[in-house]
Amino acid sequence: MIKIPFNKPYLTGKETQYIEDAVKSGKISGNGQYTKRCQTFFEEKFGFKKTLLTTSCTDALEMCAILANIRQGDEVIVPSYTFVSTALAFVRQGAKIVFADSYGTHPNIDAGLIEGLISEKTKMIVVVHYAGMACDMGTIMELAKRHDLIVVEDAAQAVCSYYEGIPLGSIGHMATFSFHETKNIISGEGGMLVINDDRFIDRAEVIWEKGTNRAQFFRGQVDKYTWVDLGSSFLPSEIISAFLWAQLENIEDIQSKRLRHWRYFNENLQDWADNNEIQLMHIPEYATNNAHMFYLVCRSGAQRSKLIDHLKTEGVLAVFHYLSLHNSPFYKNMHDGRELANSDRFTDCLLRLPMYYELDVETVDEKVLEHGD
Ligand SMILES: *Cc1c(COP(=O)(O)O)cnc(C)c1O
Repeated sequence: MIKIPFNKPYLTGKETQYIEDAVKSGKISGNGQYTKRCQTFFEEKFGFKKTLLTTSCTDALEMCAILANIRQGDEVIVPSYTFVSTALAFVRQGAKIVFADSYGTHPNIDAGLIEGLISEKTKMIVVVHYAGMACDMGTIMELAKRHDLIVVEDAAQAVCSYYEGIPLGSIGHMATFSFHETKNIISGEGGMLVINDDRFIDRAEVIWEKGTNRAQFFRGQVDKYTWVDLGSSFLPSEIISAFLWAQLENIEDIQSKRLRHWRYFNENLQDWADNNEIQLMHIPEYATNNAHMFYLVCRSGAQRSKLIDHLKTEGVLAVFHYLSLHNSPFYKNMHDGRELANSDRFTDCLLRLPMYYELDVETVDEKVLEHGD
């Protein structure tokens, strides 16, 4: 019997109150008071130039693909060790994905490998701040500038995290966040697009509102609203935004609690990890940790399976993570055949311990320490 799940969504207590408020206000479609409040919060706290709440991070990534005019034959560089959406959103627009490997020390895209993957057809680099740890954004932005490429930060896991003191999500031309129930700040399903490059702001609003100039109409900038571009129904209802607002009001508390759990694991598991040839998270000097996740890298797939089984027997659910996308049933025949050894090693050996606000971290820690091989 599982007593400690891998994830448990945390409710701050105000979610249903704000949802009731939104419902009673008589305005429950999108882009109302709660949506604006959440967007302003992010713009002010993290210096994002323009934010638009979306129904998911996947949707926000699809908006990036439309905004960058990705079309048949364009190449997009994406890490192989990531969630499907990071690549899928661009494949839907016809892109060919050129998968990049991770570092040996941690799963982020190896910035030193990117230049070798750039061709005449490359349009964009999509980076993923895995576990909320910053990619080497200095190197990546410099490279993008030199080759005139657009950079999207998939910051789905990276709320409240920084690269050399700069908030993640504010560095690339665009960035995307997720408020899926497995992330630090949640709304069930939900996401956000961040636009940092002025060129994309007006068009992003149009794409967000089903290809219409509705936003301009409401600001009185045009006298009719009509179909002007591509787009979809990307905006969430006020019910979702009201839920999210309750979370944002408590963001400091949520982050400090998660960080305390993270540090507890990190301090108490170090000797055990060394004795078992297991690596704890390596955080580069330029990156911060936002306690999105606590992962271990086992010596082998067999060692990982044994540890998962042991924890399950003790009622604790620990789980592995991504399967390299370049080997996926959907994409492997379209991949160019390069081997991506580090991505495959994280596929086989990375293990995530439970991490959530109400976690009984001492018990999980105790159960892990019992196991050795
Ligand atoms: C969670 C996640 C996504 C997808 O987010 P949704 O909001 O569920 O669409 C995309 N990329 C990464 C790296 C994620 O962790």
